[in-house]
Amino acid sequence: MPPAEAGGAGAQTLFISDLHLSPAAPAVTRRFGEFLAGPARAAAALYILGDLFDYWAGDDDLDDPFNARIAAALAEFAAAGVAVHFLPGNRDFLVGPGFAAATGLTLLAEPCVRAIAGTPVLLLHGDTLCTDDADYQAFRAQVRAPAWRAAFLARPLAERKALIAELRARSESEKQVKPAAIMDANAGAVAAALRVHGVATLIHGHTHRQGSHAHDVDGRACRRWVLGDWGADRASVLACGPDGWHFLAT
Ligand code: MN
Repeated sequence: MPPAEAGGAGAQTLFISDLHLSPAAPAVTRRFGEFLAGPARAAAALYILGDLFDYWAGDDDLDDPFNARIAAALAEFAAAGVAVHFLPGNRDFLVGPGFAAATGLTLLAEPCVRAIAGTPVLLLHGDTLCTDDADYQAFRAQVRAPAWRAAFLARPLAERKALIAELRARSESEKQVKPAAIMDANAGAVAAALRVHGVATLIHGHTHRQGSHAHDVDGRACRRWVLGDWGADRASVLACGPDGWHFLAT
């Protein structure tokens, strides 16, 4: 059985992703702070499945006042007794051991299978499922190569931030012309992931399309939970507890 949370009887495990925290969106930051200070306190564990930050230039950017504030809130939350796990997304894949040490969270690497309420569950950010977007997958393969990562992190922080801003501007303009369908999870990729890992439950974010989907994989009934993004007026929190799986009313 894969690793599981200890947690008290009745405690929930919570899943969030795609908050895209940045100084440009103070309402979301406030909402996240309220979430950590409020309902999440009673959880046994919190899983953050990527894109917590709108971008992460490297752990040496923890001195930035905004980043320091988020890290402090997470550290305080983890110290209060909730096991926090972080699986990086496409925006914050440069989060590393420095961030983990500053916050007290555990870094997870994709693909990751964890026992949640006694059931093995596959956790992904979700971008690897968007296989119809060939250009993105080529870009992803490039930037996730260990040599690229090491070379990028060796550059001065200011230079990294400038490059990231440039990449984001390009990605935003490309998104305007990409059909919405190619930016969603590919059904074949979903089935393949469920098959390879031999699990019946998958949780991911990235597509910002909160939902719950049934998949038949070789005659096995599987369930895919998709976490939504957060905004000034909304949060997306999936909970697993004694009463089963559901999105919290937020
Ligand atoms: Mn993403």
